[in-house]
Amino acid sequence: MSIATALHDSVTPEARAFLAAEQHHIIDGQSTPSQDGSTFETIDPSSEEVLTRVAYGREADVDNAVQAARNAFAVGSPWRRMAAADRGLALAKLADLLERHADELADLESLDNGKPRRFARQGDIPSSIAILRYHSGSPARIQGRTVPVRGRDVFAYTTREPVGVCALIVPWNFPLGMAVWKIAPALAAGCTMVLKPAEQTPLTAIRLAQLALEAGIPPGVLNVVTGDGETGKALVAHPGVDKVAFTGSTAVGRAIGERAGRDLKSVTLELGGKSPLIVMPDADLEQVIKRAFAGIYYNSGQVCSASSRLLAHKSIFDDVVAGIAEKARTSIIGSGFEDNVYLGPLVSREQHTRVAGYIEGGRGQAELVAGGETRLDRPGYFVEPTLFTTTDDDAPLVRDEIFGPVLVAQPFESLEEVAHRASDTEYGLAAGVFTRDLSTAHKVAGLLRAGSVYVNCWGLADPAAPFGGFGASGIGREHGEEGLAAYLEPKSTFVQLG
Ligand code: NAD
Ligand code: MG
Repeated sequence: MSIATALHDSVTPEARAFLAAEQHHIIDGQSTPSQDGSTFETIDPSSEEVLTRVAYGREADVDNAVQAARNAFAVGSPWRRMAAADRGLALAKLADLLERHADELADLESLDNGKPRRFARQGDIPSSIAILRYHSGSPARIQGRTVPVRGRDVFAYTTREPVGVCALIVPWNFPLGMAVWKIAPALAAGCTMVLKPAEQTPLTAIRLAQLALEAGIPPGVLNVVTGDGETGKALVAHPGVDKVAFTGSTAVGRAIGERAGRDLKSVTLELGGKSPLIVMPDADLEQVIKRAFAGIYYNSGQVCSASSRLLAHKSIFDDVVAGIAEKARTSIIGSGFEDNVYLGPLVSREQHTRVAGYIEGGRGQAELVAGGETRLDRPGYFVEPTLFTTTDDDAPLVRDEIFGPVLVAQPFESLEEVAHRASDTEYGLAAGVFTRDLSTAHKVAGLLRAGSVYVNCWGLADPAAPFGGFGASGIGREHGEEGLAAYLEPKSTFVQLG
């Protein structure tokens, strides 16, 4: 096997040991190669070198994993018999284990995805831990109520039961985070699951499942099958799956929703966005420039809620654009292990080609103010932080989710106009406004159609606050009570007393 030869000196011995072995599915608590022995390579997008080989799951492997999850969900299984409080403790223990292995996990995440290691260590890993800790308190909050029904001498009550075996399909932009967003509420609810990480970034999901076993979560409860879209398709279509939870592209989300509808499986979808950030003339421009920069260029723009469309009042438009352009020109691009890097590479050659295509197309539709270079003098899928301006609301730069470090800025004149233009999108994941005026802030926040609205900030997410989208940005919510409810089925029980 060809392994990346030049891992940075600071990569932990634990991460090196993990990469030295071929990695397999985790099925029923066992590291399990594919039945036909298939594997695929996972690549370091900074060097384009192979990190390790990973099992490629086909229908037979998916079937094996779903069967393990079904057995773990059977009445009387150790997981079904486990007290709610003990499920909570297992989640808390898993959080502790992530904390103990934080350096190793940050290394694996940075190598597999390309993101700066310090961002993985300070962002992805701690936020995953916080979600597990939040949901360690959820099992005790899964409560029913008594219901004053019309029937005479009837005692009625509700319970909330785990929906069953869940197919959890996640993307590559925050590989561990997106996995934890799903496994934490699913485990808290008492479900069992098959997690399929993205083919570009399978490593931390495998490590997560190993740590879950160490935390006392019984074998078969959290299975991982690695593979690509075909693997995911087989998982969605499997008759043993009760619920599908997906994060990724709107196109695949539609296909999954269609299939789940036909099979009458419960489904939640967290899809793309083209999220507008509005700057009113009275805003604190220093804050705007700082937040708008991070809102689009953090994680090299590969964020579903990226602030990829900036609408700034014409009176301050030039200043805002100049400020962001200056930051873009001086930001450091490089591998996740180089010093002070803000933008790592894009995750894959495909994503690089897609984003470069938007930049090339954009040159004809809009004015290029900063960046635009997609061929750097080194290996790796790097793209400069790029900024365009245009007044054309129909340009693909304005309408499409690019999912790369590409910002389009547009001027506006009035509040009514900008509220209308900002909502004229098929998406509705995030939107924001910067203003010092309290009534403008609340007025605009009320007008914006998006699952998350940000006032004088951008991109906050919290385990306790629902997250998800209007329109083509998805169905359902993750996080908070809503996120937990997505893994529960309500049941009404009627008891005739006399
Ligand atoms: P994708 O939707 O194809 O992949 C996401 C996950 O779904 C991966 O695990 C993949 O293997 C799986 N998958 C793919 N096809 C499937 C199918 N038919 N059935 C079941 N599972 C399937 O995303 P991508 O191709 O990697 O990225 C393309 C675009 O999607 C990006 O450019 C970006 O616009 C968007 N995207 C959005 C998010 C988000 O967080 N909302 C994340 C990643 C990508
Ligand atoms: Mg990779």
